[in-house]
Amino acid sequence: MANTTAELEALLMQRSLTDPALVAASEAAPDFRILPDATVIKIGGQSVIDRGRAAVYPLIEEIVAARNAHKLLIGTGAGTRARHLYSIAAGLRLPAGVLSQLGASVADQNAAMLGQLLAKHGISAVSSAGLSSVPLFLAEVNAVIFSGMPPYSLWMRPAAEGVIPPYRTDAGCFLVAEQFGCKAMVYVKDENGLYTANPKTAKNATFIPKISVAEMKAKGLQDSILEFPVLDLLTSARHVREVQIVNGLVPGNLTRALAGEHVGTIITAS
Ligand code: ADP
Ligand code: MG
Repeated sequence: MANTTAELEALLMQRSLTDPALVAASEAAPDFRILPDATVIKIGGQSVIDRGRAAVYPLIEEIVAARNAHKLLIGTGAGTRARHLYSIAAGLRLPAGVLSQLGASVADQNAAMLGQLLAKHGISAVSSAGLSSVPLFLAEVNAVIFSGMPPYSLWMRPAAEGVIPPYRTDAGCFLVAEQFGCKAMVYVKDENGLYTANPKTAKNATFIPKISVAEMKAKGLQDSILEFPVLDLLTSARHVREVQIVNGLVPGNLTRALAGEHVGTIITAS
């Protein structure tokens, strides 16, 4: 196994970039966490922001209070407006990459609105979470807002079937948390967490407080409360080995989750 930069460089110059020895050598250095003290929270689009003031104002208060003790990267979902766009665009037979751009524009709208609501607290929305000013915002005011859609845009990898972009805002927020080596990832939605079936339609669904990705798949729940590709991203993650989903319509839940309490469903990588 190569251990030095020179050995790795020699492999890189000679071999395919997916050569097993080269890939192994690229792992020789320890993982590095870029923003280890930050937590990513995703504010759901359909589940939270689309409900308007009743859902959003109390969360704004919790965020403002929480940032005294926590560093927060606040990502936004897209939601109903994106679904409406997807239905029109899919009807027009436009491809997944175009739908990805359309969905991103709605997550942008939600980030812009949260930015206005948090402006008087000194919390800004950035146009891209891809670093630039993010560390500065975190250092100065402990919080920053970003648009949750991953910027694959036209280059979105399409699903096997259909034109709905598979990597949407759940995935975008997870990737931000994982790439930055953040402390935690909290999804703020409108149910207490994962149930044995969709609680909106199955009255006898029961709550699952903690579950692994493998157990979720075994129960056929891989496409339920989180976008399904997030489960595979979680399985192969280096840093963020679990996520928590909390009900943001219950006051105090976000605050408690940020304090490390188990208030919703925790999904673990293994
Ligand atoms: P967001 O707005 O954050 O993207 P979604 O509305 O896409 O959130 O996803 C959350 C929704 O997933 C819940 O409101 C719920 O109706 C639905 N859902 C489907 N299956 C399940 C399940 N097994 N357990 C919990 N929620 C589920
Ligand atoms: Mg969703």
